[in-house]
Amino acid sequence: MKFDVAIIGGGPAGYSAAETAGKAGLRVVLFEKQSLGGVCLNEGCIPTKTLLYSAKVYDLAKHASKYAVTVPEVSFDPARIVARKSKVVRKLVLGVKAKLAESKVVLVQGEARIVDKHTIRCGEETYTCDKLILCTGSETFTPPVKGVDAVTYWTHREALECKALPASLVIVGGGVIGMEFASFFGSLGVEVTIVELLDEILPGMDRELSGLLRSEYAKRGVKFMLSTRVASLAQAGEQVVVSCENTDGQESLAADKLLLSVGRRPVIHGFGLENLGLSMAGNKAVTVNDTMETSVPGVYACGDLTGFSMLAHTAVREAEVAVHHILGKDDAMSYRAIPAVVYTNPELAGVGQTEETLQSAGIAYDTVKLPMAFSGRFVAENEGVNGLCKILLSKSDRRVLGVHVLGNPASEIITLAGMAIEWKLTAEEWKKIVFPHPTVGEIFREAAL
Ligand SMILES: Cc1cc2nc3c(=O)[nH]c(=O)nc-3n(C[C@H](O)[C@H](O)[C@H](O)COP(=O)(O)OP(=O)(O)OC[C@H]3O[C@@H](n4cnc5c(N)ncnc54)[C@H](O)[C@@H]3O)c2cc1C
Repeated sequence: MKFDVAIIGGGPAGYSAAETAGKAGLRVVLFEKQSLGGVCLNEGCIPTKTLLYSAKVYDLAKHASKYAVTVPEVSFDPARIVARKSKVVRKLVLGVKAKLAESKVVLVQGEARIVDKHTIRCGEETYTCDKLILCTGSETFTPPVKGVDAVTYWTHREALECKALPASLVIVGGGVIGMEFASFFGSLGVEVTIVELLDEILPGMDRELSGLLRSEYAKRGVKFMLSTRVASLAQAGEQVVVSCENTDGQESLAADKLLLSVGRRPVIHGFGLENLGLSMAGNKAVTVNDTMETSVPGVYACGDLTGFSMLAHTAVREAEVAVHHILGKDDAMSYRAIPAVVYTNPELAGVGQTEETLQSAGIAYDTVKLPMAFSGRFVAENEGVNGLCKILLSKSDRRVLGVHVLGNPASEIITLAGMAIEWKLTAEEWKKIVFPHPTVGEIFREAAL
């Protein structure tokens, strides 16, 4: 079977590339070996946010009296929370399927194997293509800790299916995934401990705001062990014992469950990638240029496989850029303003540079910090809670370089900041935009003023 474009991997990168190419009239085949929608829809972005929303509703109901609303009895059902999550996932996967069908994409369920850049094998069939887009995504990285093979542990997959809550949970890794699960399980009353190797949680996010978020969760009872290495793991009956080391010495934690969330790595093995002879970044990820083309002309790579942004929205935009290049349209990938969000409660979001990246690049900047209480809408909806908005401006011309927000709904308003950064607006230009009142996003106008 002959196609204009073959795409391996049906996650956000793959299905977006397929839809865009199909809509443009190209004959497209998309291979997916597991579940259409990839990690994002089936076991990542969507299921975590669905669980977190249940926890948020529970928190709100528990604290409803702050808003003068009486809720006599608040409870939750973990099994129904998980069932609802699965229902949401099913609905969205069906939506993707429908869009692909509309774009006349041929969807092949099975593991694709690259023979050469124009030939793909899947099952007994051979498919030929003019262009090839690789979107095989990433997989969970299991740390090589002593004893890891002898204990029962969760990855995010098992954590998402938890229908009966453990009394205690140790999470190894205080990155975004670790913090989101800490938020979910902590809200539902599980005793959570986070063990993090670095001296602050959420590497890559604004350090000051990450620290504030950590303090907020510590107040709610989540225990943080920073600058702490997991030395070994052991099973003791139903519990897992996590032996940790830090400058204070050694400590052992026993918990009902252990969640390992120390990171993800690109899927580069097992599907004939080596037959293409592509340039690789440290033999870990596929190297691409700003049109997402690899070192082999006509072969593109998008999404987590490229190994540096590892976010669904980046994957979607990269896929669009790759297809535009195939179509001969002028487009290029920009990473200047990729928002990053931690969907805790409160949410933490950032876009552009952080103080840390500016300092290490030696770029002079000014910092504007404003409590979220400067937004009337934020005050109306966040009784007894504050947050922080931080804007980083270039010292030379007051262009917006980075914006970081701790407070709800940071995930929704951060795009306004992303636009200012992507379009290289100065603070003065940004504040000329009329924001609806009252909205939380007005905080940016206040800060720019
Ligand atoms: C718990 C969790 C929460 C997350 N939350 C967020 C979030 O809130 N926001 C966000 O932006 N990102 C989030 N992410 C990251 C996000 O899921 C990924 O960045 C995104 O899924 C990457 O998309 P992708 O298309 O590159 O790869 P994937 O989604 O990994 O999809 C790759 C697909 O390729 C298929 N495949 C691989 N090899 C083959 C082969 N040889 N043949 C056929 N098919 C193949 C796989 O089965 C898979 O379906 C989260 C991740 C996790 C684990």
